[in-house]
Amino acid sequence: MKALEEKIREEGKVLPGNILKVGNFLNHRLDVQFLCEMGKEIARLYEGCGINKILTIETSGIAIAMGAAIHMGVPVVFAKKNKSKNVSGEVYCTDVVSFTHKNVSQVIVEKQFLSEKDRVLLVDDFLANGMALKGLIGICREAGVDIAGAAIAIEKGFQAGGDEIRAMGIRVESLAIVESMTDDSITFREQ
Ligand code: 5GP
Repeated sequence: MKALEEKIREEGKVLPGNILKVGNFLNHRLDVQFLCEMGKEIARLYEGCGINKILTIETSGIAIAMGAAIHMGVPVVFAKKNKSKNVSGEVYCTDVVSFTHKNVSQVIVEKQFLSEKDRVLLVDDFLANGMALKGLIGICREAGVDIAGAAIAIEKGFQAGGDEIRAMGIRVESLAIVESMTDDSITFREQ
């Protein structure tokens, strides 16, 4: 998505540790109209795939998931990173290593929100080493949910997650794939 590539070039900042900061529109301040445009593109890519639910992971996946859900007319379920008091009943649970925080979070989804009849689209803001997405895939498999594919705002193509998840036979669509990034230049994969 060319508009996203331009926005990353204009507003993104490369931080040490291979972190791309896009707090101006995706991770801190939300450019809601632009998120809706990104969501429209996700809906176009997965049109006719029979998706009835989006599954994402808090926190930053939620905004882009909502952008897509608005155009797809489906609900969003988000995996929670800490079991809080308002989570009750049985849960699907997995451990996810955070790329940005380097800690391990227990990620949970209440069983009542996933069903064997579901055909789910996985959505997240970034794809790096694929730990977040693999956590969601694990939860879907445990729940017997059919995975239509994954939609990612920004994939860092120089990290292994995208290749690994495609090699698992899961369709991954990324609106922008960063091929390389340094302090003063970001290049994208042609797609
Ligand atoms: P993975 O699990 O694929 O290694 O990393 C994906 C998760 O880590 C995403 O949910 C995202 O929140 C975070 N993440 C990974 N790389 C970046 C990055 O370069 N910038 C930001 N802002 N978040 C990232």
